[in-house]
Amino acid sequence: MSIIRPVMGQLVVLSSPSGAGKTTLSKMLAKQNSNFVISISHTTRKPRPDEVDGKDYYFIDKKNFENLVKEKSFFEYASIFDNYYGTQKETVIKNLSNGKDVLLDIDWQGTQQLKKKIKNLKLVTIFILPPSIDILKQRLINRNQDGKKLADKRMKKFSEEISHWKEYDYVVVNDNIDSCYNLIISIINSEKNGIKFVYNDKEIKNTINKLIS
Ligand code: 5GP
Repeated sequence: MSIIRPVMGQLVVLSSPSGAGKTTLSKMLAKQNSNFVISISHTTRKPRPDEVDGKDYYFIDKKNFENLVKEKSFFEYASIFDNYYGTQKETVIKNLSNGKDVLLDIDWQGTQQLKKKIKNLKLVTIFILPPSIDILKQRLINRNQDGKKLADKRMKKFSEEISHWKEYDYVVVNDNIDSCYNLIISIINSEKNGIKFVYNDKEIKNTINKLIS
């Protein structure tokens, strides 16, 4: 009797500065593609009013997080805005082995760690940009869940985060959520077939120039 193993799934990293729409896009991807699983990170950040433990994050304290670090439980982890965030290895590997595509909504520090660690896994990394600084500011103010102080702090972090765009396989601009979603899904499908997705990056380079000037 032969055992048929499913093909390993695709690991997809989405990173962006806060407010670029990454969480919305990840949720759209998971909702519209039954093969996608969003990896749920552990964090020491306090939950926002609409967040649910075990759904948005596993909210744990610093001591428990540090224990998981000691146990080498994380694929990657980082300290962001004075809190720890990390992706647990076991669940990701289990899902990939079952042929599921796994979405990681993580920052550039975690992406760098993953790229060093990944062997025999299919990984595609995508960086999402907002169309302009003004739109980003507006999105952060509208979100307003973290208070103005943290929104200002996130704005200040923007330049540092955006400077890492070159480390990603693809960069996309979220000026329209549906077209950005379509582009991302085309990239992922192409990569799943082992083909580099080719697209016009003129608009992206223009946006980057404006964002960093
Ligand atoms: P937020 O506090 O807004 O939910 O997330 C802040 C940042 O942490 C976002 O850029 C998000 O992508 C990143 N992040 C969330 N989970 C992880 C994780 O497990 N690892 C890393 N490296 N970054 C994460």
